[in-house]
Amino acid sequence: MPTINDILSGAAAIAKGMGITLKEMMNPVITDDYPDAPPKFQERYRGLHVLQRDENGLEKCVACFLCSAACPTQCIYIEAADNTEKVRISGGERYAEVYNIDYSRCIFCGYCVEACPTDAITHGHGFELASYNTSTLVYRKEKLLAAPPTGTDGKLKLDHPVNVSEGGH
Ligand code: SF4
Ligand code: SF4
Repeated sequence: MPTINDILSGAAAIAKGMGITLKEMMNPVITDDYPDAPPKFQERYRGLHVLQRDENGLEKCVACFLCSAACPTQCIYIEAADNTEKVRISGGERYAEVYNIDYSRCIFCGYCVEACPTDAITHGHGFELASYNTSTLVYRKEKLLAAPPTGTDGKLKLDHPVNVSEGGH
């Protein structure tokens, strides 16, 4: 049978707990409403990669393979191709015809971003990549590539032949 002291100490404990709850209710909310609202990220957050374009819509990647060489999990696969005299895809001599990242192996270490000499590969804020099928975790260039600026299609069609080795970057 509880004594009067037990009842008083129980009531005091409940009052103390409710006091903390009420105090926290007055503080600003620091949690996100995800998935009902998009979460907020710090700028430095390392999410799904984005292959960037320059101001003309050309791909910044020049297929130098430095990101692939720096990757500790060997999850970047690139096939290079030459820009032609008629159609230029990137600002350099070559561009990545194939650029895959296998997100079943990527550890989001950022080494690829650090290694890239043209700032072509960056971390975006995408994070929703969970899947029961690992084959869907290989993201191809088409999925990674930033959208071309308005009014461009990401290919520079040239009326006159140029020396492609004169390209930017
Ligand atoms: S973030 Fe790290 S593991 Fe992922 S692709 Fe880049 S270098 Fe490789
Ligand atoms: S993303 Fe950067 S480092 Fe990787 S191949 Fe392209 S230009 Fe080279």
